[in-house]
Amino acid sequence: MTDAPTERTRVKRLNKRAKYDAETVHAILDATPICNVGYVFNGAPYVTPTLQWREGDRVYWHGSSASRMLETCENAQVCLSVSIIDGFVMARSAFNHSCNYRSVMVFGTAMKVTDPAEKEMRLRTFTEQLWPGRWDILRPVTAQEIKATTVLSMPLDEASAKVRTGPAGDDEEDYALPIWAGVIPVRQQMLPAVDDPRLIPGLKAPPHIGGFKIG
Ligand SMILES: Cc1cc2nc3c(=O)[nH]c(=O)nc-3n(C[C@H](O)[C@H](O)[C@H](O)COP(=O)(O)OP(=O)(O)OC[C@H]3O[C@@H](n4cnc5c(N)ncnc54)[C@H](O)[C@@H]3O)c2cc1C
Repeated sequence: MTDAPTERTRVKRLNKRAKYDAETVHAILDATPICNVGYVFNGAPYVTPTLQWREGDRVYWHGSSASRMLETCENAQVCLSVSIIDGFVMARSAFNHSCNYRSVMVFGTAMKVTDPAEKEMRLRTFTEQLWPGRWDILRPVTAQEIKATTVLSMPLDEASAKVRTGPAGDDEEDYALPIWAGVIPVRQQMLPAVDDPRLIPGLKAPPHIGGFKIG
C-alpha cells in the first residue's frame, strides 16, 4: 500500500481499507460520474452533487457560468468525493451491519479552464467518456455555449480511496445465533433508452446509446 500523500488525506478510521495509489483512485473516479463537491460559502459548508470526469491526473467538473458552486470553488480549497455502494452487508447484530463500497476524497484548489479551445476539448472528453461516439454526431457546440459553461479542475495528487469488501465482521459469540447474515449486492443499472417524444419518426438510437455503463 502506498502512503497517504498528505496528512489530511490519511485515513485514520478503519485505515486497513485505505488506498492511495493512482490506479485505485482513477478506477473509482472512472467508475461513476456522480460526485459531491464540498466548499465553504459565506462561512458555511455546502456539498453540491454534480458530475465529474477524469483526464490523466486531474479531475474535472462543469456547469453554468452562473453557478454559485462553480464561482465559489474557483481558486478555492475544495473537497470532491465519489462513492459507490457495492453491497449491503447484513450482520447478526444491527451494530455490525455495514456497506461494501468504493470511495475517493480529493483535496485541492480548483482552477478554471480559461482557454475556450481547451474548454471545448474537455467538454468533448466528458461527453465521449460517457457515451463514446456521441460528440461527433451532435450539432456543433457554439461559442456562446462554451462561454456559458464553466469547467473547473483539480490535480489528483492529494487523494485517498477507501474500499470495503467482504462479509460482516460479527462479534465471535454472535456467529452461533440463528440469524441470517450475508451481503446483498447493489448495482446501478442502465435500462433500455426511451425515445424523445419529439424524435423524427422512425429514427433509431445509435449503438453508443446502449453502451453506457456505470459503477
Ligand atoms: C457508501 C458509504 C457508506 C458509508 N457508511 C458509513 C456509515 O454509515 N457510518 C460511518 O461512520 N461511515 C460510513 N462510511 C465511511 C465514511 O465515509 C468515513 O470513512 C467514516 O465515517 C470515517 O470518517 P472520519 O472522518 O472519522 O475519517 P478519518 O479516517 O478521520 O478521515 C481522515 C481522512 O481519510 C480519508 N477518508 C475518510 N473517509 C474516506 C472515504 N470514505 N473515502 C475516501 N477517503 C476517506 C480522507 O482523506 C479524510 O480526510 C461510508 C462510506 C461509504 C462510501
